Amino acid sequence: MKTHELIIIGSGPAGLTAAIYASRANLKPLVIGGLKFGGQLMDTTEVENFPGFPEGIMGPELMQKFIEQAKRFGAEIIFKDVSKVDIKSEIKKVWVGDEVYQSKAIILATGAQPKKLGLDSEDKYWGKGVSSCATCDGAFFRGVEIAVVGGGDSAVEEATFLTRFASKVHLIVRKDSLRASKIMQDRATNHEKIEIHWNTEVQEVLGDGNKVTGLKLLNNKTNKSSELPLAGMFLAIGHIPNVKLVEGVINQDDLGYLETDSGSTYTNIDGVFVAGDVKDHKYRQAITAAGMGCMAAIDAERWLETA
Ligand code: NDP
Repeated sequence: MKTHELIIIGSGPAGLTAAIYASRANLKPLVIGGLKFGGQLMDTTEVENFPGFPEGIMGPELMQKFIEQAKRFGAEIIFKDVSKVDIKSEIKKVWVGDEVYQSKAIILATGAQPKKLGLDSEDKYWGKGVSSCATCDGAFFRGVEIAVVGGGDSAVEEATFLTRFASKVHLIVRKDSLRASKIMQDRATNHEKIEIHWNTEVQEVLGDGNKVTGLKLLNNKTNKSSELPLAGMFLAIGHIPNVKLVEGVINQDDLGYLETDSGSTYTNIDGVFVAGDVKDHKYRQAITAAGMGCMAAIDAERWLETA
């Protein structure tokens, strides 16, 4: 069986940037990109904040460009899901169903997924007014009313950010208190453009087939339903890092994200590097994930030289 120098698991901005750098370093990386390749940008419409695209670019088109660039320098990419890994030994093994791939080094760039409410209407209007990234999509909602769902730091941060664009931001909180830190709580409660709806849950995202037109809400104290007309709903109810493959093997932080040595992409396992949203719960941007992918490829290349 052929042993690759490097296998990269994940095909979002982190994994594919790692592939570009590693292939230019002649490592001939194998990227196992997942059946649903491309990461979270595949669920986005227009990306206006990725440098180099002054007119903006559609998320899936951007990821296609990443793929072309990685292939140009010899990266091999397969779009299948990894079923399990054995990364403790010197030679790492990666299973895709019954097929086994081997490598000396591994970059894990499996990303994270935004938590969803689990409503059919939320999926129906995803990218048509429903989003999980205020930084990415906020500017599409100038002068209109929108909602942010959640009561943690992310929700307050996103709600505050969105007041730059929206005429009003409705913060939908399922309890009678915010989980966010005190300073963030004050920011939300004192903001003239933010209205907090306590004890409130989203029952349905309302729309005209093409875009969001409102929310059907339930007050879980009074059991009363109501409709709130607005143009968009941002989810900020947390993210789930995709760590299943290496749970119990690679160290995780308090929030469950994979841990690296400070200032690098090295992990507690020799020859295993981590990049992107599976490690980062703070910035979560395509450009920061890409930056970390670059770091992981350089770390892996240097590690392979001495291995
Ligand atoms: P959190 O897990 O802290 O908060 C999630 C929020 O979403 C909670 O209010 C929770 O409600 C609510 N929620 C969860 N599921 C649902 C649901 N199905 N329906 C409605 N509401 C729901 O996640 P965050 O992303 O806010 O923060 C993650 C970590 O990152 C935290 O440690 C946070 O402090 C940190 N962070 C720090 C920032 C900063 O310092 N500037 C900015 C952003 C994040 P409930 O309280 O009822 O469980």
